[in-house]
This record gives sequence, C-alpha cells and structure tokens, in this order.
Amino acid sequence: MQFKNIIGQESLKQQLIQSVANKRVPHAIMLLGQEGSGNLSLAVAFAQYLNCENRINNESCGECSSCLKSQKLIHPDIHFTYPVVSTKGSKPKSTDFIEEWRKAFFENPYLNIQDWIESLDAENKQGNISVEECHEIIRSLNYKSFESLYKIYIIWMPEVLGKEGNILLKSLEEPPENTIFILVGNSEEQILTTVLSRVQIMKVPRLKDEEIIYQLEKKEGVGNKEAHAIVRQVDGNFNEALKLAKNSEDDNEKLYLLFLRICLKGTHEGKTLIDFCEKINADLGRENMKGLLRYGLDLMREVFVLEYIGESKARLTENELKLAQYMNQRLSFQSKEEIIKRLEESCFHLERNANPKILFMNLGIFLSHLLKRNEVVLA
Ligand SMILES: [Zn+2]
Repeated sequence: MQFKNIIGQESLKQQLIQSVANKRVPHAIMLLGQEGSGNLSLAVAFAQYLNCENRINNESCGECSSCLKSQKLIHPDIHFTYPVVSTKGSKPKSTDFIEEWRKAFFENPYLNIQDWIESLDAENKQGNISVEECHEIIRSLNYKSFESLYKIYIIWMPEVLGKEGNILLKSLEEPPENTIFILVGNSEEQILTTVLSRVQIMKVPRLKDEEIIYQLEKKEGVGNKEAHAIVRQVDGNFNEALKLAKNSEDDNEKLYLLFLRICLKGTHEGKTLIDFCEKINADLGRENMKGLLRYGLDLMREVFVLEYIGESKARLTENELKLAQYMNQRLSFQSKEEIIKRLEESCFHLERNANPKILFMNLGIFLSHLLKRNEVVLA
C-alpha cells in the first residue's frame, strides 16, 4: 500500500516521511486514531516506505521487490500482530490467521475489530493478543532481518493486550537496531499506560467530510447527494461510510430485481406494477429514485462488459451475474441499447421533476413489452 492510496492525512504522511529523511524514525510509534481514520493503512504504507529500495518523491516506488512483497502483506520483515480467537487451538498466534488477515485487509483496509472477528466466523468470541504471541515477538527479535533494512512489527489493537503486554515493555523501550514497532490503536484509555509511556504517540485525526465525500464519489461510485447524506451520519469514520454506501447498493439491487420481475410477470409476490410505483413514490426521495435508475444503468453496462470483455464477473453479485448472463443470452444488442436509452431518459426527466409514479409506470410498461418480446424468463 502506498501513501497515495490512503485518504487524506496529508500532514501525518509528511511527518512520517520527514522522520525518514532526517534519519529520526522513532523505534516505537503509536498511530492513535478513531475507527475509520485509516491509521492501520498508514502503518502498512509507512512500513512499505521504510523498506522500499527506491523511494521517489516522498512515496514508495511500488515496484521494487520489497514493495511487491509489502503490497501483498508477505514481506518477511514486516510482522503483523492482531487480535485472534481460539478457533484453531487454545494458544492462537497471529500467524495462524495470516491468510484471513490478508483477505480482510485487502477487502477493507479501514476495517474495525468487530469486522475482523466476524470475518473469522467467530462473532461471539473475544479477540485477543495472547501471551504466546508476545513471546513469539520477543523470540523473533533475536533474528536479523531477512532481506530489508528494517524489521517492522505492526501491532493492531493494542487495546486487547492485558497484563501480558508488559512482557513487551523492554523490547518497546530498547528494540534491537533497525527494529521498529508501529502500534495502531483507537482508544488511549483502553491501552496499558506502561505501553503508552514507551511509544511516541502520533494522533491520527478523523477524516474530513470533504475527503470522505470525494472518495465515495470518485472511487466508490456513490452519487453526490447520497455521499453528502452518508457523510452526515459517520463523523469522519470511513469504515462506517463504506458500510452505508454498500447497504444502499444492496437495497437498489433488491428493488431493481423486484421491478424487473414485476415487469416480466405482471405481478411478483402479489405486487403489481402500480403497487410498485406507489411504493417507490411513497418510500424513496428523488435522489434515491435516481440512485435506483443509475443502478439499473450500471447493471446494463456490466451486461455489455460481460458479453464483450468478460471481465465484470468480480464486480457482480451472484444474482446480478445470473441476470446479466441471462440477458446476454436472450436480448439482442439493439434491445439492450434500447433499455439503456430508456433508463437514461428516465434519469433525465426525473432530474427535471417529472412525476415519479408516472415515470416508473412508463418505464415498467416499456421494459415489460421488451422483455416479453424477447421471451426473457426471470427465475
Ligand atoms: Zn519500492
């Protein structure tokens, strides 16, 4: 992970970069910031930067052999310690869960401890950094680094370190040469004071609203108004923002599929097209209606991508993929184009204050004719 992949936090990035330039990298840092601030991502990017063989313009190169390994979280000199559960034996260590850790981090580098524990299918268990893990760290400190200058220990959520954390104090205070500890925590009050007193605390501020909005719009494809609505609810927590964005995506998927089913069969689960249009009119604001139409448009684009490039599978849910494959089998190029044109027109009119009930009714009748003409059968 490079600094440029991390949202905001410019002054902290500069501070870390300067510490390397001045050869004053503290041997034990605590990146302390609320959930969703990106402190874990910063730790990972800083570790990559420290060991990069070819730093350029205040950034790791992303191409040297050290960077390639850092990016996959497989660098032998960058160790990760994080809370784990006892599903794989009574004395669990972080390395027992390294595959799961990589997967969870790549899926969402802004994850919190609950997300992580849930990803292990262990919702009711308490994540812990065990005494064995602490001993393992101390043991491994005796070895030299394998291939890079720095040996780096990233310890995520030191909050869960109980008294066993005290085993680490001497190492935090005086680690071997070129060994760096980067602790990544959310809440100062929950961390052992003995640990806090031995690290240089760097506060990671909460993200600014405009930074979250920019990211949601440009990188996550969320509409402008929706991004503003999300940001109001999350108080600088990007993890939370991502979840809200994902939820509204899920809702759109369900609603749009229901719409298509009704168009095709006349009714679905007792709901007619008129019922559907009335419900949309009553439940959704104009922005969400536009979101629903945009979802339909995005899906049609994916249908084309799937047919002609075949690369969109990873972006589609199981239901979407089934529908997209089915449409490609049944619909001609012209029919698919007609659908896109009609959805675009509907968006256009909705923005210009068309009556939503009539607009969705017209669209539904159009889709209904088109799908029936092509004998599309939805499961
Ligand atoms: Zn590099």
